[in-house]
Amino acid sequence: MPTLNANDRLEGERGFDYLIVGAGFAGSVLAERLAAGLGKRVLLIDRRPHIGGNAYDHHDEAGVLIHRYGPHIFHTNAQRIVDYLSRFTEWRPYEHRVLAVVDGQQVPIPINRTTLNALYGLALSSDEEAEQYLASRAERVETIRTSEDVVINQVGQELYEKFFRGYTRKQWGLDPSQLDKSVTSRIPTRTNTDDRYFTDSFQQIPLHGYTRMFERMLDHPNITLLLDTDYREVRHRVEHEHLIYCGPIDEYFDFRFGKLPYRSLRFEHKSLDQERFQAVGTVNYPDEAVPYTRISEYKHITGQQHPTTSVTYEYPSAEGDPYYPIPRPENAALYKRYQQLADATPGVTFLGRLGTYKYYNMDQVVGQALALYQRIEEAQRQPVVPPPTAPDDSLVSQAR
Ligand code: FAD
Ligand code: UDP
Repeated sequence: MPTLNANDRLEGERGFDYLIVGAGFAGSVLAERLAAGLGKRVLLIDRRPHIGGNAYDHHDEAGVLIHRYGPHIFHTNAQRIVDYLSRFTEWRPYEHRVLAVVDGQQVPIPINRTTLNALYGLALSSDEEAEQYLASRAERVETIRTSEDVVINQVGQELYEKFFRGYTRKQWGLDPSQLDKSVTSRIPTRTNTDDRYFTDSFQQIPLHGYTRMFERMLDHPNITLLLDTDYREVRHRVEHEHLIYCGPIDEYFDFRFGKLPYRSLRFEHKSLDQERFQAVGTVNYPDEAVPYTRISEYKHITGQQHPTTSVTYEYPSAEGDPYYPIPRPENAALYKRYQQLADATPGVTFLGRLGTYKYYNMDQVVGQALALYQRIEEAQRQPVVPPPTAPDDSLVSQAR
């Protein structure tokens, strides 16, 4: 993998088949496939000084492996995505567990039978009893539209306020009633005592970290990597047949229709001179009076043995790098306008969480990139059909 510096002159370079903007999951998977699968010459750029996008991990000064952009837990039900990534990494089994601080106690979230028993001094001993208890608290909502509706319908007002309202207001700067139902629907309600955050069939972490996995993925002579470089700096300097853009779609079009809202976070990383800080990988703080949403301790996730430990506090923020597209109808409508513009713009394809404005997990982004590759590959086999120039909905549904 030849690596260029931002100051290297590109003018003398041979042209590339593909210029890919963004070396996160979306851009890196596609770069690997195009280079190794089709023999394409790819220039992969990122404005950050590292590969991996938001999944980037590295050793901090104390020697603990941390995730620079908050805890990343890999989980999926898609075997083909596991098979693909397994070409570049071995895995370490890890099932994420999360506790929420509510009424001075640390209780499991997603809400399960243990949560109910602990909070209310109950002795519910079966799924049926817990189901009945929840049914007695739930307030039926006719049409479930918002993130508030989902939770109230399942557990009622009181549990909604304890676990969801404050956390969501902090995380998104919006009330749950202003967010699509898809946001809080990510968190189930359980009547059993399963306290895992996810129930996917595959829950494992890259054994030597995400960055190492990306390094192996990009280790190909046809891939040239250029870090610390914004697309704007090279767009007129690099000859390329096709552009794959994994940055924010509104930025690509110079915010022509206005800014697409993205939510940001400030990460406070701390190294602590103690072996353990908390009982589980992540502890959530739904109380609105606490300025952060959650604290994560990496050694639970990575299994690293070390005399010190490192944790990250997440402070939601309106300013800063775009981390989360904000799922609500007006934003979807604005994105649609950009998507139509993208469809009408030849030579560029948008991909990934920022490029397609979708609240995707890592596995979904890998699926989206593999689906796009499949379409490119098929188009190559039938030369009369031009390669796709814009994402279509079938790619997104295939990624699921
Ligand atoms: P990104 O990783 O954002 O990569 C896009 C890259 O493009 C960036 O590196 C950016 O610097 C670069 N870029 C943008 N614009 C330009 C430009 N103009 N020029 C050059 N480069 C540019 N998913 C899970 O599955 N499990 C989790 O536990 C999980 N936890 C998360 C926790 C947090 C706090 C966050 C924010 C996300 C989490 N995710 C998790 C989601 C996961 O990070 C994303 O699904 C995944 O990283 C998206 O990959 P991507 O390539 O689409 O985007
Ligand atoms: N959520 C909440 N309380 C919690 C956990 C989650 O209100 O204790 C809501 C909140 O709106 C959050 C969403 O559910 O943004 C999705 O949570 P998840 O942990 O999946 O968020 P992510 O890891 O993507 O930040």
